[in-house]
Amino acid sequence: MDQLLIGLIKDRPIRVYLVNSSASSKEICALHHTTPVVSDALSRLVSVGAMMSGMLKDKKSSLTLKIMGNGPIEQLLVVATAKGTVRGFVSNPNVSLPLNKKGQLDVGKAVGDLGVLTVIKEMGLVRDFTGDVILMSGEIGDDFCYYFMKSEQTPSSVVVGAIINRDQSVKTSGGMIIQLMPSAEEEDIVYAENVTKKITSISKMLDAEGDVTKLATSIFGSDLDILEVSPIKFQCDCSKERFIRGIATLTRKEIAEMLEEDHGCDIKCEFCNRNYHLTEADLMEALKIRGMKN
Ligand SMILES: [Zn+2]
Repeated sequence: MDQLLIGLIKDRPIRVYLVNSSASSKEICALHHTTPVVSDALSRLVSVGAMMSGMLKDKKSSLTLKIMGNGPIEQLLVVATAKGTVRGFVSNPNVSLPLNKKGQLDVGKAVGDLGVLTVIKEMGLVRDFTGDVILMSGEIGDDFCYYFMKSEQTPSSVVVGAIINRDQSVKTSGGMIIQLMPSAEEEDIVYAENVTKKITSISKMLDAEGDVTKLATSIFGSDLDILEVSPIKFQCDCSKERFIRGIATLTRKEIAEMLEEDHGCDIKCEFCNRNYHLTEADLMEALKIRGMKN
């Protein structure tokens, strides 16, 4: 089962997030028929999304992570909720590239190193937060390090990775975020750096340990106080009602055309591939929600 672990380093102002997102990433990548390099990229973003969902305070809030790069993947999107659900989308799932110099899947090249990373937090009644930064390397971990520093003024180390099976499915996907709180001093920074240096591959370590609690022990020994371990799962919250509300944001003319020419419309959810058929009555409902405004 996928899990998110949140902990604090004993006697240091350092917060730790560890995630196993293997099953969710596997399901999301299978839905989108992604090639290995895209699976690696999307799984990394799913891991970041799952960890950042643990930073949301209100249980009703959610966040959207969007990476638009100049690489062939074009756009990667992950939505995570404070309840621990994740879903994802990629605009081009069918990218194949030679391995990089280290003999690994070339996520940086597939995503691109020119582009924008955007984080949107929807926090219920509180005003939504949007932050965006330029991409550093397209490797996703580095890009979020920069995001936390630049956009949230929180020095963080972000390590994410995935192992892809020979049959192209996701075997293991996981990650770690270490964040320094404002009271951190030089020795805390050194501590965090040393921990990060020890990790050559977070996905291989997770694969060997099997779950986040054992992974935490292998990385931090007895230095970590575990605050909580909670489940993470793939779930799409699409519904016919949501799509009707979506249609209601179109112009009256566009909705009228769908009614008169097609007498309904078919929509596929881009996160879970579920198909919805909206009838004339559904489109009339959308018009009603829309009201008379132009
Ligand atoms: Zn859906």
